[in-house]
Amino acid sequence: MVGIVVVAHSAKIAEGVLEMARQMVGTAVPLAAAGGIDDPENPIGTDAIKILAAIQSVYSDDGVVVLMDLGSALLSAETALELLPPAEAAQVHLCAAPLVEGALAAVVQASLGSSTAAVMGEALGALAAKQAQLGVAQGEEGGGEMAVSAKGQSISLTVRNKLGLHARPAARFVRTANQFDAEITVRMGKLAANAKSINQVATLGVRQGETVKITAVGPEAEQALAALQALADDNFGDVDEVAAPDVEIGDQKLEIVEGALAGIAGSPGIAIGPAAHYRPTLPQVTEREVTDVAGEWVRLQTAVTAAIQEIEQIRETAVRQMGQSEADIFAAHELILKDPALLEDAHQRILTRKINAEAAWQAAYEAVAARYAAIEDEYMRARAADVRDVGQRALRHLLGVTHPTFTLAQPAILLAEDLTPSDTAQLDPALALGIATERGGATSHTAILARGLGIPAVVGVGPALAAIADDQMIALDGRTGQLWPDPDKKTLARLKKEQAEWQAERQKAQRLSREDAVTADGRRIEVAANIGSPQEAAIALQYGAEGVGLFRTEFLFMERDSAPTEEEQLAAYQKAAEVMGERPLIIRTLDVGGDKPLRYLDLGREDNPFLGWRGIRFCLDRPDIFLPQLRAILRAGAAGNVKLMFPMIGTLAELRAAKEMMAQAKEELRQAKLPFAEKMDVGLMIEVPSAVAVADQLAREADFFSIGTNDLTQYLLAADRGNRKVADLVNALHPAVLRMVRQTAVAAHEAGIWVGMCGELAGNALAAPLLLGLGLDELSMASPAIPAVKTAVRQTTMAQAEELARVAVGLESGTAVAEFLRKEIGD
Ligand code: PEP
Ligand code: MG
Repeated sequence: MVGIVVVAHSAKIAEGVLEMARQMVGTAVPLAAAGGIDDPENPIGTDAIKILAAIQSVYSDDGVVVLMDLGSALLSAETALELLPPAEAAQVHLCAAPLVEGALAAVVQASLGSSTAAVMGEALGALAAKQAQLGVAQGEEGGGEMAVSAKGQSISLTVRNKLGLHARPAARFVRTANQFDAEITVRMGKLAANAKSINQVATLGVRQGETVKITAVGPEAEQALAALQALADDNFGDVDEVAAPDVEIGDQKLEIVEGALAGIAGSPGIAIGPAAHYRPTLPQVTEREVTDVAGEWVRLQTAVTAAIQEIEQIRETAVRQMGQSEADIFAAHELILKDPALLEDAHQRILTRKINAEAAWQAAYEAVAARYAAIEDEYMRARAADVRDVGQRALRHLLGVTHPTFTLAQPAILLAEDLTPSDTAQLDPALALGIATERGGATSHTAILARGLGIPAVVGVGPALAAIADDQMIALDGRTGQLWPDPDKKTLARLKKEQAEWQAERQKAQRLSREDAVTADGRRIEVAANIGSPQEAAIALQYGAEGVGLFRTEFLFMERDSAPTEEEQLAAYQKAAEVMGERPLIIRTLDVGGDKPLRYLDLGREDNPFLGWRGIRFCLDRPDIFLPQLRAILRAGAAGNVKLMFPMIGTLAELRAAKEMMAQAKEELRQAKLPFAEKMDVGLMIEVPSAVAVADQLAREADFFSIGTNDLTQYLLAADRGNRKVADLVNALHPAVLRMVRQTAVAAHEAGIWVGMCGELAGNALAAPLLLGLGLDELSMASPAIPAVKTAVRQTTMAQAEELARVAVGLESGTAVAEFLRKEIGD
């Protein structure tokens, strides 16, 4: 455990600080005081030898953090460090945090078993609660909170993003910072923030064109700065700037015309229908004095963890319904809940004021929300609602009240004071005809998500909305921001006409996405969807999927305590097959292991799980799991266009063994006299480099191939797909991967079978012509990517596609390929 040393000119101050610290954490953390000097006449001062002894008394390999008061305390501490053996001195860190607040934050963090970097980070951020309460922006100069050790390394970055370092780029920034063992500070002018705190970084309010200075201290300082620099070079991941409103919206309200209330255009479209109010009751919190402060802290952490798990689920649904970009909002929500500064503020409130977790937590997140609300920038101001959304989610867990889910009984226009992003994401677009809110702006997440769901929305209408009765027929125009509480006949007729035109346009766009993807010179490529549950099959069709190219069955095995039975699996596969009708449904057999562990399957711990017992290797060793799944898939094929696909095949022997199991499953079904597909196409994923090398042999014994670029890229470039430190290497556009794709396609076609791709690369619209040129017959992707890929296919010819492929495989890097594609076919 990290040891803490408190250095002060007065022995009484040093001891007093330690006394307070012991009250908080007892004797768990090694603590030592080095206050005053041994001169009874003149006891005020600091002594390097005394500091040295204090450091040695708490020293361990986990390190020591030294907090000092002022002036000579720093010099004496530095001298003490010089007196230590260099190897030990390297583990001792002088911390520039304020003495009292810093020491208390440091001991609390150390008591959690954290690293020196985390302890230093907490200490340096310790003034946040006080500043928030007194209304001072964090890190203002003079506060001293973010003073940085002279040993820190710095870089300066200019933010080029259109909306500045807003929620999502800030989230990417914080996520990157969190991967390194270093204490990282972001400074802009007089303000400074802890780079690992989403709220501190976001509320700095960095706008386009502004420069921030980033300083890092700690063992991985250099790597941290390099990674943050790379992120900035990549525009903080804001490729498409989706956060920028893509409709004609503005915050100015229109004149009141035709009896309309004026709001702000949130999401385009016209809605006419009965009103339905959504009035969720907010949990009531009462502040109580508590004795078991440690227990309250545990309760808070449990509630926050539960809230994070819920958000992860909402995020998964949002990815499928709206696409990655919109769903990133929920990634930012997760970061808010994981924000060390927010949690520590709540923790400190529990400890110092001895109050219940509910009251401490509410005060802490409300303080952060107030900081967002005070920002000048309208977009950032709207983030206060996000903080309250996640704050209340955890609060409900603390209070044991369930989150109110709003379900409409019939199609209606939803009226609310404000809708949280999670409320909005859970709306059923078939029943929510429109949305109107009293509060919120065009860039509120309610508006962004409504646009993602295609629901017309007017936001910021004001209190007049409350006067509308439930079931009253109303109308709204999400393009102009108008809402008619009682539209007259003439207005209604006009709106109905415009609504019909709008719907016709929408249907045309949908029709186009449902039509085949055919190149300008007549070559058709099949565009299919990747799904993880039968429910997603319907969503896939809405996006224009011509089939399912990958049903990842492992999701059926997750979030439960035992494997699903054959019958349970059969029901899921049959349901998906039913939705797909005549269209193909490729069901992949279980691909657990690697980054998809399953507790009850007893996979054990492996040093290199991605190179270990995963996918087909696991299934071949576990017929008790594999055979029921094979039987369920074969049975689902009795009444659907079902194909079966094996993951992770690396050798011919594995393919043969898997097919033998399939033959055994068929035999068992015959014996049991159960109906099943006697003749079912069997394919395999090409995602292990050895499979590419022997693709000609595999192709002779399979009906199709589907290239899994996610795994193929990681195995080919020897770079773990989940490890951010090697993320630059995991680029599926690398010519090494493209050559493997071409080689696989040649082998497949020579053997007379078709070849598709279901890795993430297949959903990259920019790469679609290149993939055609490399010889692919099918592309399978996350549903929201389908319309753009189809459009890209229609805009190319085979001659162009083949030329792109010819050049791309000869380029020198994945980045060069991406640049080449952008130049050739990008905007
Ligand atoms: C792949 O590896 O490209 C793939 C589609 O499979 P998964 O991502 O499920 O491993
Ligand atoms: Mg894979």
